[in-house]
Amino acid sequence: MTDPRRELPSVDRLLRDPGIAALLARAPRNAVVAATRAALEAARAGRGGPPADWAEEVAERLALQTTPSLRPLINATGVILHTNLGRAPLAATAIEAVARVAAGYSALEYDLATGARGHRADHCRTLLAELTGAEDGLAVNNAAGALVLALNAMAAGQRVLISRGELIEIGGSFRIPEILERSGAILAEVGTTNRTHLADYARALPGAAAILTVHRSNFDQRGFVATPDPAELASLAGEAGIPFIHDVGSGLLADLAAWGLTGEPRVPEAVAAGADLVLFSGDKLLGGPQAGCVVGRRTLVARCRDNPLARALRADKLTLAALEATLALYRDPAAARSRIPVLAMLTASADELADRAARLAALLPAAVGARVVPGESAVGGGAIPGAVLPTTLVSLEAAALRANGLAVRLRHGDPPVIVRVEHDRVLLDPRTLQPGEDALVAAAVGAALADPAG
Ligand SMILES: *Cc1c(COP(=O)(O)O)cnc(C)c1O
Repeated sequence: MTDPRRELPSVDRLLRDPGIAALLARAPRNAVVAATRAALEAARAGRGGPPADWAEEVAERLALQTTPSLRPLINATGVILHTNLGRAPLAATAIEAVARVAAGYSALEYDLATGARGHRADHCRTLLAELTGAEDGLAVNNAAGALVLALNAMAAGQRVLISRGELIEIGGSFRIPEILERSGAILAEVGTTNRTHLADYARALPGAAAILTVHRSNFDQRGFVATPDPAELASLAGEAGIPFIHDVGSGLLADLAAWGLTGEPRVPEAVAAGADLVLFSGDKLLGGPQAGCVVGRRTLVARCRDNPLARALRADKLTLAALEATLALYRDPAAARSRIPVLAMLTASADELADRAARLAALLPAAVGARVVPGESAVGGGAIPGAVLPTTLVSLEAAALRANGLAVRLRHGDPPVIVRVEHDRVLLDPRTLQPGEDALVAAAVGAALADPAG
């Protein structure tokens, strides 16, 4: 038997194919050649042999090449801070602020009052201080960067005390011991994995330049465990005249106890407990853009701001615009809760979710036998790992296509819709659907069922 893969045409021959030659009128030659090579490569590597229609195959690959890779999509998974899906969607006012600043020039480093040079670091400064109760604040590119900056500014070449129970990996190759080492500080482990006492820190204190505590964001420790209160660490560090740095992680500013969401350190509480520097993320529970915030004592924040790494880690104008607008919403806690998408999703009521699930189910094609069923959403992003968020899911069946097949088609759609699959059912969680996305999801399901591709 001859192997059809041996008889593949050459690139040149394919480019003379009228269907492929016609593509040259629409796209640059290099792109068409690359798509042709990719089609040949796939035919050579795959079991299927040559495609039935080369021109169609090349046109599809060309379309893929010209689609942006960073595409917006619909998150129907119910995981609110889905790190792979870009964490926090922004509030409308933050989006408007980004668009305004992006479209033209801005007072990024310009003092409008005097007409002289201003400072980028001044933009979120007042709001960060006001909302957290700290003396001063600084926003940088992300929280991992904020930690490197704070450690370098406080303790380069010197020992930093940290509990063995906090030498954690946060995700995406972010490991505290490695970050600490790269910051130029020297790791000084105290205590044990499960129990660390104030006395452990006190014994290791001579010669230390700072005490660091890192919130165990993505897991819970239970059983025979002990950690000193942040307030105790703050006074121990204070007596020794060294800074106490508290990385609280998720940047929770709002008080969500009334929604049963507890156990996550709130930034204002960490400041009130006496931490000299508090570090947190902008795009987790704060609900803003990717950013790292440093708040705390004026002299220490100034040391961070003046450190050369602050230049390497600086936030860009779009981030600062989005962060400033997001922070501004927190001046009115009720506005923050309803207008910051992450907070609105976290605090959506059971009744509201049940209504939205019923409305979504009613829009879907009858063929998927949509049913509303109780379920749970997840906070994600390594925040409040123990939280249970009851929701109402819309459960679909996909007959011959099977749930996995339907999920793949939804993922390949435009816009892509990302779903959960459990027990051969596709599950849609209205909690992470944004206003107006229901109709898009219904259309996507209809298109996936109609797709002749399989
Ligand atoms: C998430 C997290 C970080 C990193 O935040 P990014 O904004 O993703 O860089 C640092 N520390 C803690 C405790 C975290 O939870």
